[in-house]
Amino acid sequence: MSKKLSRREFVKSGAAAAGLAAASQTVAAAPTMITPQSVKPVVIASGNGNRYKNGGDETCVERAFRMMTSGKDVLESLIAGVEIVELDPTEAGVGYGGLPNADGVVQLDSCCMHGPKKRAGCVAAIEGVRTPAAVAHAVMEHTDHHLLVGDGAQSFARNMGFTIEDDLNTEHSRERWLEWKRRIDPSHYLDPKKRAEAGLEAGISMVREGLIDEDHFWGTINCNGVGPNGDVCGVTTTSGLSWKIPGRVGDSPILGAGLYVDNEVGAAGSTGRGEANLYGLCSFFVVEEMRRGASPKDAGMAALKRVQANTVEKRLLNSRGLPSFGLTFYVANKNGDVAGVSMYATERSKYAVCTENGAESLPLEPLFEGSWTDE
Ligand code: ASP
Repeated sequence: MSKKLSRREFVKSGAAAAGLAAASQTVAAAPTMITPQSVKPVVIASGNGNRYKNGGDETCVERAFRMMTSGKDVLESLIAGVEIVELDPTEAGVGYGGLPNADGVVQLDSCCMHGPKKRAGCVAAIEGVRTPAAVAHAVMEHTDHHLLVGDGAQSFARNMGFTIEDDLNTEHSRERWLEWKRRIDPSHYLDPKKRAEAGLEAGISMVREGLIDEDHFWGTINCNGVGPNGDVCGVTTTSGLSWKIPGRVGDSPILGAGLYVDNEVGAAGSTGRGEANLYGLCSFFVVEEMRRGASPKDAGMAALKRVQANTVEKRLLNSRGLPSFGLTFYVANKNGDVAGVSMYATERSKYAVCTENGAESLPLEPLFEGSWTDE
């Protein structure tokens, strides 16, 4: 006769069976099921994440890693990290001193995403606040919304106690804007299409002449972290494309494009030509590739190949028939494995990583040799 189980025993045995089933699934299942013991805490960022210190003694990835491994929330740690870069006046692609739009106004974009909370916040085309990532975080924490833009984003920031300034230009960013204006304005008679092309060409010629750092023409910081308990978060913050049409918003504040996080899988974010990334929502695509079992590197490369395949307009192809722009992905899976992959990478092209062994600048893995500025 079978023994009659008490309710408590029944629940216990059911739970044990479910546990066994889950354990056997874990063994046989997709590599996205990750046990906490296998987590290696890590912060990955664009190269500027291990370059700028804003006069202090830590870079973005160092600060973020230190904070998250001492128990701080992973997203709060990342935002504190990118703030170093946003506030540093010598970094001309992010925050204060970012290269301005075509009217000479610095307009900033940012997005952040919290894996465990499954929430995100973004701001776009915000003026007058040096730290848009913190405003994006406030959108996530204090509203039911996802994305605030322009004047609305600024008044939200004012109401949340952020300092609003008239002008985020530095002497350097204003000087570079004046030089760009000088190059395109003598040609008032150009039709709008030619004018837009002249604007891009003037910018690229300034990169070639070394007046603008290649990394600052499309300049941004993306920073993703996997905390000691396996929490995954990410943030992207930027002044966007230099000399953009006022109001233009790139990929950085758009969830799925400039950033995507899934706490069960990993995180991806980007820098580079936002429009190319937006068409493929590549950060989402990268995370989904990892969910299907791809490594961070293979997932990132798959996105770059997708972008290449979707780049068909002649004006966006170089003499080799390849994309004539840069695009880079910073990828971490839930285990803490990372990759930095880029459409092109020269010797100088690096991404930043911080682990328990300290911060490093590592070479990006390119899909193609050479630089996007090559003829
Ligand atoms: N992706 C940014 C944008 O298109 C710029 C950049 O990363 O440099 O606005």
